[in-house]
Amino acid sequence: MNLDRPAVLGWLRERDAGRLETLWSLADRTRRRHVGDEIHLRGLLEISNHCRRSCLYCGLRAANTAVQRYRMDAQTIIAGARDAAERGYGTVVLQAGEDPGLEAGWIAGVVRAIRADTGLVVTLSLGERSREELALWRSAGAGRYLLRFETSDPRLYAHLHPAAPGGPRHRTELLPILRELGYEVGSGIMVGLPGQGIESVADDLLLFRELDLDMIGVGPFVPHPGTPLGALDAVAAEEQVEPDEETVMKVVALARLLRPDANIPATTAVATCWGPRGRERALLRGANVVMPDLTPPPYRAQYEIYPGKTCPPGLELTMTAIGRRPGIGPGGRRREEVPWSRP
Ligand code: SAH
Repeated sequence: MNLDRPAVLGWLRERDAGRLETLWSLADRTRRRHVGDEIHLRGLLEISNHCRRSCLYCGLRAANTAVQRYRMDAQTIIAGARDAAERGYGTVVLQAGEDPGLEAGWIAGVVRAIRADTGLVVTLSLGERSREELALWRSAGAGRYLLRFETSDPRLYAHLHPAAPGGPRHRTELLPILRELGYEVGSGIMVGLPGQGIESVADDLLLFRELDLDMIGVGPFVPHPGTPLGALDAVAAEEQVEPDEETVMKVVALARLLRPDANIPATTAVATCWGPRGRERALLRGANVVMPDLTPPPYRAQYEIYPGKTCPPGLELTMTAIGRRPGIGPGGRRREEVPWSRP
């Protein structure tokens, strides 16, 4: 479907329930045709909550002294990967705050050990790191990297995500490097950030297509009381986007229409805000991936990027109820040539 900017904006502004049903079924049919009925499960391990950054939205920001910080040791991470393999998942995702204590050579060793031990595809989500580090991890066997660009609006981005010294001005600068290094590249956004207008969400969606992303993660912004955005009455944009379920579902559905063969998760933030039924609705409106949290206690609760983060049980029941099945194997992107996907 060759959606242009006015059409994307039209859907984002749509209120009519009947027409929205059309959007949901278009997204669901596109999902089925391009990525099928399998739901790929990725085991998520939150390996460190140390962070040197000060993103205004995130509970792990360095200035939040209320966080009890942890860094998992290699044995715990490898045990978590084994857990994922035993559950039949094809992929493990290592995510963390931007933690310089996760020394690059050490991470490379952990990636190698997981690869040798379990054969799982390893996805990293460790924030903004240098080209050399990203290359090292790639050669150690990491196959995928997740780095949400959060918002394409340059002013909003700079405000919410102050640049690190020597780091990129915008995360979109890192995505082509990841691609060049041979990673499958994932990115995404939060919906409903204070100051995020509907036009900028349309731009985010069009950027998903332009970047030809392999994976697209979209979730609602959830205010964290330990951050400057803890109270939601902060600077609202003129046509402020709300972090409500309908809006987030529209973004998921449009991401599917714009990038038909991408892997799109029903994110933890969606499940946290709208429960197992919300997760189910995302899976019926374009999503084809779930990332169950395998982080062991007490770390899981300490990785509090936003309050209340939970991964509801009952996924097997949901999959059966909606006629879907767990994916087998790594579930990588099966790249299709999409004529309009390249600039
Ligand atoms: N340090 C890594 C991992 C961050 S956590 C990185 O920056 O890439 C993964 C994602 O959680 C972030 O990219 C962001 O989109 C999301 N997130 C952070 N704070 C959030 C909040 N308050 N509400 C909703 N999502 C949030």
